[in-house]
Amino acid sequence: MDLRVIGCHGGETPKHRTSAFVLDDRIAIDAGSLTSGMEMKAQCGLDAVLVSHAHLDHVRDLATIADNRLQNGCEPLIVAGTKVTLGILKKHFFNNLLWPDFSRLPSERKPSIRYLEIKPEVPVKIAGYDVSAVRVSHTIDCCGFTIRGRDGTLAYSGDTGPTDRLWEVLNETESLKALLMEVSFPNGESRLARASGHHTPETLARDMDKLERRRELPTLLYHIKPSFQAVVERECARLRGVNLTVCALGDQFIL
Ligand SMILES: [Zn+2]
Ligand SMILES: [Zn+2]
Repeated sequence: MDLRVIGCHGGETPKHRTSAFVLDDRIAIDAGSLTSGMEMKAQCGLDAVLVSHAHLDHVRDLATIADNRLQNGCEPLIVAGTKVTLGILKKHFFNNLLWPDFSRLPSERKPSIRYLEIKPEVPVKIAGYDVSAVRVSHTIDCCGFTIRGRDGTLAYSGDTGPTDRLWEVLNETESLKALLMEVSFPNGESRLARASGHHTPETLARDMDKLERRRELPTLLYHIKPSFQAVVERECARLRGVNLTVCALGDQFIL
């Protein structure tokens, strides 16, 4: 599996991009920076986007990728998420007010995007992968994913604070190659992290005790808030008994 980091931060500056990852050039996980971070040809090459939840930093570039793909006559892009997430996108985003309804443009027969509902823990085939969503603990409906391809499984946490079910599912996933895991705020901002449904290095370490393979499983950290990048990285570097790597823009992992 070829995992590319398009965006891996919990905010944006010219040096930070919001969450978006691409697996084997085919399937994207969240859409925070799919157009700001990818060339047109690569945008058009995607088959599907898995959307963890409806917060803007994870869906914003659905607006521009839908428009770009329409201009280039690309195949419909599958936008996969839970019923709640897709409902928010339909009602508040692609609602012909904030942005056109690209699920009907340029035509209903061949639209720019096509919604695909995923039910938590009911595996579904998307772009050749077995995808399963797992509910996590955020301020709105949010899911992590396991994505199984021929060579193994990649897991993605989505935005979450301390949670249980995700770790149970990961403990049962034998072919797991790596976990993309959120951490957002430094330990000194634990109140903010709790209120916004995110991790600090401290809460992450405690939560990862629930993961049996925590010592060896490559755990790729993302969603650090730009203003706290250095301190969160320092605090993560002090954690022991886990195999952590902080994602950077442009990183490529062969799993
Ligand atoms: Zn969020
Ligand atoms: Zn987020």
